[in-house]
Amino acid sequence: MRVVLVATQQPLRESIAAILERAGHVVAGFAETASALAYLKEDQAANAFIVAGVESATAGMDICREGRLLASFQRPIYICLLSAPLSSDTMVEALDCGADDVLHLPLSPDELHARLRSAERFNQMQLKMVEMATHDGLTGMLNRPAFFERAVKMCRETTAPLAAIMVDIDHFKSINDRFGHAAGDTALRAVAQRLIGNGELAGRLGGEEFALLLPQGDPDDAWRAAEALRGEIEAREIAIETATVTVTCSFGVAIGAPGDDIDDLLRRADAALYVAKRAGRNLVAYFDPETPDVPNRPNSVIRCHAEPDGLPLRRAVG
Ligand code: GH3
Ligand code: MG
Ligand code: MG
Repeated sequence: MRVVLVATQQPLRESIAAILERAGHVVAGFAETASALAYLKEDQAANAFIVAGVESATAGMDICREGRLLASFQRPIYICLLSAPLSSDTMVEALDCGADDVLHLPLSPDELHARLRSAERFNQMQLKMVEMATHDGLTGMLNRPAFFERAVKMCRETTAPLAAIMVDIDHFKSINDRFGHAAGDTALRAVAQRLIGNGELAGRLGGEEFALLLPQGDPDDAWRAAEALRGEIEAREIAIETATVTVTCSFGVAIGAPGDDIDDLLRRADAALYVAKRAGRNLVAYFDPETPDVPNRPNSVIRCHAEPDGLPLRRAVG
């Protein structure tokens, strides 16, 4: 494991570090609590915090509490207090303060190693469960709740406007109907694969519908990004058991304002997606607040994709 060790006395610190390193753990040792906590906060890969031989049990508990505050579902941290033998009540208090274990000094190296092995098993299990709870099993993309959780955070933390792109596979039901559900799954994975990994936030919101959140809030850039994806997906041959298939997607693009609500932003992108579907599919529609609203086609323009000067043509849908 990656252990952050705080022990005021140098000989104790060095002996514990040597025990841990012999078993293959990586140790960052500190005499000062503040530095240890700062390091634990900074190094997100650190997954164990050992507090040893501090001046009193109460002080040890306070440090464990501070360490616990740095842990989360996504970041499990095993916290162990090493101290002189404690009364049962004090031990209970230390565990309630955030320690996972309280071990007595003088230390039994075998016991410490066994505790860390057990902690590692729990840490890995927790990370696996978090992965399963936040990702879609078929495509590996963020699932709907995890996408929204991160999108809300991204909206809150980004001062520049964001771009949202809603994506829906066209006539996907017919892929299932013609080639079977397994082929549909393969096509879904292929589309998802193309949508992941451009530095943006990507999620499968449900069925054959995806959302992307891009840090650049320039309408032309966002449109081009969607248009590039549209063209690549259209051109890609997807191998299924008996044949190859191609699919197309419709895209809805919207630009947020600073401090925008993710629901509003995605609702506008979704309105544009609806326009792209209505206008014939395999198209990118952009939600333009300045285009007049018409029934069922709110504020959206379709931009055609093959313009002689390379710039997309805006054609208001109405
Ligand atoms: P449109 O162009 O209007 O979007 O048509 P569509 O056929 O894509 O849309 P519709 O909503 O009628 O059908 C979506 C289909 O997606 C129906 C559903 O069975 C299929 N689907 C949803 N999730 C999965 C999945 O995980 N795997 C497979 N194979 N199919 C799925
Ligand atoms: Mg569809
Ligand atoms: Mg759909």
